[in-house]
Amino acid sequence: MKFNSICARELREKQEIRPHVLPIYSTSSFSFDSIDQALDIFLGKEKGHVYGRYGNPTIEAVADKIAALETHGLDMEAKALMTSSGMSAISTLFTATLKSEDKVLTQGNVYGGTTELLMTVLAPFGIETIQTNLQDLDMVETLVAKDPTIKMLYFETPSNPAMACVDIEALANIAKKYGRFSAIDNTFCTPYIQQPFKYGVDFIVHSTTKFLNGHGNAITGVIVGRDCEYMEEKVGHVLKLMGTNCNPFDAWLTWNGMKTLSIRMDKQSSNAMQVAQMLEAHTEVGRVNYNGLPSHPDHEIAKKQMRQFGAMLSFELKGCIQTGVDFMRKIRFCTLAPTLGDVDTLVQHPALMSHEAREVRESNGITDGLIRMSVGIEDITDILADLEQALDCKTNKNMPIMQHHKAMVSA
Ligand SMILES: *Cc1c(COP(=O)(O)O)cnc(C)c1O
Repeated sequence: MKFNSICARELREKQEIRPHVLPIYSTSSFSFDSIDQALDIFLGKEKGHVYGRYGNPTIEAVADKIAALETHGLDMEAKALMTSSGMSAISTLFTATLKSEDKVLTQGNVYGGTTELLMTVLAPFGIETIQTNLQDLDMVETLVAKDPTIKMLYFETPSNPAMACVDIEALANIAKKYGRFSAIDNTFCTPYIQQPFKYGVDFIVHSTTKFLNGHGNAITGVIVGRDCEYMEEKVGHVLKLMGTNCNPFDAWLTWNGMKTLSIRMDKQSSNAMQVAQMLEAHTEVGRVNYNGLPSHPDHEIAKKQMRQFGAMLSFELKGCIQTGVDFMRKIRFCTLAPTLGDVDTLVQHPALMSHEAREVRESNGITDGLIRMSVGIEDITDILADLEQALDCKTNKNMPIMQHHKAMVSA
């Protein structure tokens, strides 16, 4: 089956009762015909379900579909496990693969929650984090070669909010050469745009809350691993005991959202390109960070590993609208919400809404005039018109602020 067909189809085995779409198995446990069958299922001699935290048919259908998409067209299999959120995918992966005195080599600009997890939750358990510039491959190899306790290379590309890219293949090769794990957060791209397994990574995580779901109505995550046995025995074991499992209803919402993945991503990428071009030509806008623009410093790496350039971009204000807050006050059509990947265009102000610590913020180029956008599927003329009026020096920036906008800006 081709990629789009995997997204759209139900892909389930024939059953006695034949619902057209995947049912929600809203049950905490599963019953047995006999004690002998129960024993066989417990011992793994017969396939079956036991208890909802260990496995559930709705959740497994979603996981299997994501594994099929991440390995599509590649000569390999992978095993996916759904989790309760993107953060629980990341925390489950770290706790399953790392132990005290191991180190993670990563970059300063991964998702803020990931950095905080490493620094404040895992560090006290003796798991150390080294942040470096993962674009400097010689430096990465030097660090890995001299320190055998670096157990994992963990990265994100493109990364928030400057859309900086790292070379997946080069990093995965360094990890492989020295027998370490490599893991990537593929949330911004989805397997439709970027397939990290093609370049040799060991693990892929997603906040499926974002583009894979696409409709902003559920919090879910996934871990996909190329070593199916390790995923089942080790990662699955930790997931089960940490209780970081997904719930069937949110899994089902993700299942529904994924059916339109490719059409959404095509439309969002083409809208984002038009937004980026308009912004780049605008006199009130400074730097525009979009991987699809030849002016982006990582355009070439992006072209190598991304099929298209996605929905995410950020830009710097300059001129009459000095700060992100002033700009956000004037936004009328786009939605002010601290998430990404939904079908509506989302505008966010990283300095206020996601990167609170000033020193971290400034070292990653997050100024007060930086705006991040997740471009949606609306008519491009509506998106562009809103940006034009918000950037227009003549329109009054002191007009009344809508109540929910006010709350968001002060959050
Ligand atoms: C949102 C996000 C996460 C965290 O996911 P949750 O589902 O909110 O837990 C992790 N990584 C990236 C890149 C994200 O955008």
